Amino acid sequence: MFSQLSKNNSALPQLCPLCAYGNANKLGLCWVCFNDLPRCPPVNLVVHMAQPPKGLRLILSALWYVAEVRYWVAAFKFRGAPKEAVTMANLIAAQALQVYRSQQLKLPHYLVPVPMTKTAWAARGYNQAQLLAEALSELLGIPVLYLVQRTKQTTKAHKLDAKARRQVLAQSFMLVGQLTRGTRIALIDDVLTTGATLGAMTALMPRVGVIVDAWTLAYTPPPRFKKTHY
Ligand SMILES: [Zn+2]
Repeated sequence: MFSQLSKNNSALPQLCPLCAYGNANKLGLCWVCFNDLPRCPPVNLVVHMAQPPKGLRLILSALWYVAEVRYWVAAFKFRGAPKEAVTMANLIAAQALQVYRSQQLKLPHYLVPVPMTKTAWAARGYNQAQLLAEALSELLGIPVLYLVQRTKQTTKAHKLDAKARRQVLAQSFMLVGQLTRGTRIALIDDVLTTGATLGAMTALMPRVGVIVDAWTLAYTPPPRFKKTHY
C-alpha cells in the first residue's frame, strides 16, 4: 500500500515554484506565472544604465528583479532550491539568443560564473551562479570556464556606498586562468544591481583582445526604467 502511495505521489505533476498552486509546465512554472513574468526587454543594458560597469561590451537580463522574482531568487539562493536553475537558465538563454541575434553578435566562447568563496560555498552547499552557468552550458553547448576565484565574500557590500563597494570588490577576485586574444566570455550571475561585481571581475581580464559580456537572471530596475518599460 505504501509503495503504491509513493508511486502515485511521484507521478503527481510538480507544483509551480512561484505560486505553489498551479502545475509546472515543462519549463518548470505554471502557465499563469510564466505568462506574468516581469520580463526585461531584450536590449543591451550597458546602453541604458546611468553608470554601467566599465569594460563590459554587453549586459543582458531576462527579468526585472521585482516582487515575485525576488521571492523566487531568494528561494533559489537561500532556501535550498537549486533545481530552479534549469528553469531560470531557459529564460536567460532565450533572452541571450534574442539579444545576440538582434545585435548581430557572436555568442561567447565560454560562460564564467561569478564565484563564491569556499567558505560561503560550503555554508550554502552550492553556488547559484555556477548552477545557472552549468544549466546554460547544457542548453546552449557553450562550455563553463572557472576562470576567477573569490578570495573575499562581500555579502554586506550592498550596505557600503558605491566607491567603498568598488574598492572592497576589487580585492575580492583572483584570475586563475588565461585567455587567448579574441576570446569572448559571458559572466553569469543571478541578480544585477549596480554591476559593481561584474565590473570588478572584468577589471581582471586582459584589456585588449578579450570581449566580456554578462548574462543575468534579474535586474533591479532603476526608477527611470520603471516608468518606460515596466
Ligand atoms: Zn505559478
